[in-house]
Amino acid sequence: MLKDIFADIAIIIGFLLITGQTLKNIPLGGTLEKKEQLYIGLICGLMGHLLIVYAIEITDTVNIDLRNFAVVISGILGGEISVIITSIIIGIFNFTIYGFNNSSILSFLTLLTVGLGCLFIVKRKYSRHRQYIFMLLFTSFISATTYLKNIHGNYFIYAVYSLGILAFTGILVHLTLENIFTLNNNFKLMDYYRIMTDNLSDMVSTFKPNGEYLYISPITLNVLGYTKEEIIGRSIYEFIHQDDVIALKKIHLNLLKGQEILTKIYRIKRKDGSYVLVETSFKNIRNRNGELQEIIAVTRDITKRRQIEMELSKSNKRAKKILESIQDAFFSLDNERNFTYMNKVCEKLFLTNTEQLIGKSIEKVFPKNLHIGFYEKLNAVINQNETLYFKEYFNSVNKWYSISAYPSEDGIAVYFKDITKEKIIEEKLIESELKFKTLVNSMDDMVFTLDRSRRYTGVYGKWLQKGGFKEENFLGKSFEEVFKNDDFNIHEEAAKRVLEGENVVYNWSLKNDEKQIYYQTSISPIEDGKDNIVGAVGVGRNITEQITIENELKIANEKLRSLSFIDGLTNIPNRRYFNEYIEKEWNRGKRFNKNLSILMLDIDHFKAYNDTYGHLQGDECLKTVAQTIKNTLKRSGDLVARYGGEEFAIILPETNSKGAEVIAEKIRCNIENLRLPNINSRVIPFVTVSIGITTVTSYVDMNYGEFINNADKALYKAKESGRNRIYVYLS
Ligand code: GH3
Ligand code: MG
Ligand code: MG
Repeated sequence: MLKDIFADIAIIIGFLLITGQTLKNIPLGGTLEKKEQLYIGLICGLMGHLLIVYAIEITDTVNIDLRNFAVVISGILGGEISVIITSIIIGIFNFTIYGFNNSSILSFLTLLTVGLGCLFIVKRKYSRHRQYIFMLLFTSFISATTYLKNIHGNYFIYAVYSLGILAFTGILVHLTLENIFTLNNNFKLMDYYRIMTDNLSDMVSTFKPNGEYLYISPITLNVLGYTKEEIIGRSIYEFIHQDDVIALKKIHLNLLKGQEILTKIYRIKRKDGSYVLVETSFKNIRNRNGELQEIIAVTRDITKRRQIEMELSKSNKRAKKILESIQDAFFSLDNERNFTYMNKVCEKLFLTNTEQLIGKSIEKVFPKNLHIGFYEKLNAVINQNETLYFKEYFNSVNKWYSISAYPSEDGIAVYFKDITKEKIIEEKLIESELKFKTLVNSMDDMVFTLDRSRRYTGVYGKWLQKGGFKEENFLGKSFEEVFKNDDFNIHEEAAKRVLEGENVVYNWSLKNDEKQIYYQTSISPIEDGKDNIVGAVGVGRNITEQITIENELKIANEKLRSLSFIDGLTNIPNRRYFNEYIEKEWNRGKRFNKNLSILMLDIDHFKAYNDTYGHLQGDECLKTVAQTIKNTLKRSGDLVARYGGEEFAIILPETNSKGAEVIAEKIRCNIENLRLPNINSRVIPFVTVSIGITTVTSYVDMNYGEFINNADKALYKAKESGRNRIYVYLS
């Protein structure tokens, strides 16, 4: 019996091991492909067949076989399809062994039940262990019930035997199965690792403890340019840079001495002779006994990284150089306000040196009470993460600084620009502006300044206060805004010219309370000392009084002038005016070749009139005669002037000889018709006149002196030929 048991166990374990080996690369316990399930079903069927053949003889009449194990194993390894196939195969074998009889049919049916039961259990997704136990118990129970009727006698003994065999075999099978699963799993993991190392971008290789290559990943071969055969079996030292050998040997030694992981940067020689800078992490691999088996190396190409590091360090150095060479002071603080950097200019400013400061807090280095505002502002930059510009005075160097503090991720950067000179200039400027203000504010004139866009930048002078004007109404405003409805263009134009470099003086006026007020403004450009015009300064002066005086003078002059042209007695133009007028008309007539006539008129026997009626009456007569002549002349160009005594001259422009005769006769008649008595006249006892007439015949051969003379001559003729008549001059 024992012999049978061991044979069966050998069969089962043998089959299991063979199956395990053939399936090592297939992920057991997952979903298998159909052909794999078929394979497992067949193998287990075969195993079941052998187990029937090698049934265990408990007594001469009672056999027990372990066919059920074949079904259970099939279910565990392969699943549903495997179970069905195994059951069917065993069932068929059953007939080939026992022939077709009642007992073998029963045995077949039992097997079918076992198969279906196991199928049911496999379908339930129990854990592997549960499946195993449930199937084993179920199959054993079914078999036991079929055996019952073949068994006679001592049930207890049979039961003990059966259970013993079942338990013993069950445990053995279980252990073997688990082992198979573990192995299968390990193979799977190994596979993963292999895929991973083959595809890692890092280079993976393994060495014997003496440094000989055992494995090298494809990517490593790619990078280095060797074939696998050229590397495997050779020492790592054949492939590294001469100068790195000693350092690497040291690492090697330390690994052998027991340090488990070490990292080293060195150069590997590529097949083309060039070198790759790499960083390798070496790790010891030991077996269960702790003996060093292999060294695994994970290597990374750091040529690029090194280049970037070099660039970075170069640019850092450059930045440092720049910071050292700039004239502005510069320092940086971290977020805890500790110094991280300070340039030379800054060292001078703080009367210290970098070594003393780096890593120290700014509050400790410079007592707070020295620059309370300064610290507060730096704190604000750090806390609010905002750039700040401000000015500070430093006693240590007796200077003003304009400070810019910029926040950054790791703290703040602070720049100092020496502005002492600018500050002095600024102060002087303020002082000079004050002086200027005081000066111009005491002036009666209106003083103002303009910027380049012709807007007021300042207004000064007493007029502001006197007139109740406010600075705000001017500052920043344009002429248009200030003058509103008044004409501002005159100022605009003047200012434009000034900003182009001219000095401009102009007059303008305003109506204020119905009174016209006159101003004179002079504007000059303001230059910045570099020939740039930055604005303009203007002075406005009230010249109303001056203008009024001028106007009055003008009127007076005109009056004076007109007076000198008018005859005081008769109120008609005098001889001076006649002279100007005749010259003008002579020239005009000459230019346009127009006619021109003059009449010379003299009162007849006026001496007698005076003698008869007195001088005063004589004056009245003169006035009447003058008025009568004036009234007779209709054209605007005609002019009568008192030529002297009781003589009048009449200028008739654009009048020919005939016309002149008509007018002369009209005058003579009009005076005669006045019927002014002159009883002692020897012509008739009334006032009469004689008139000489002349008309220009040629402007070329004559001047207007001769022309007047001719009129005189004609008058003489009129007198000579009896008076109270007209006479036309004949050349
Ligand atoms: P005849 O017809 O030749 O012109 O004689 P007449 O007396 O008019 O001429 P005469 O030259 O001898 O005298 C001119 C007089 O006119 C002399 C003078 O007393 C007078 N006479 C001149 N001017 C004025 C004046 O302004 N007022 C007055 N009342 N008489 C004047
Ligand atoms: Mg006369
Ligand atoms: Mg006369």
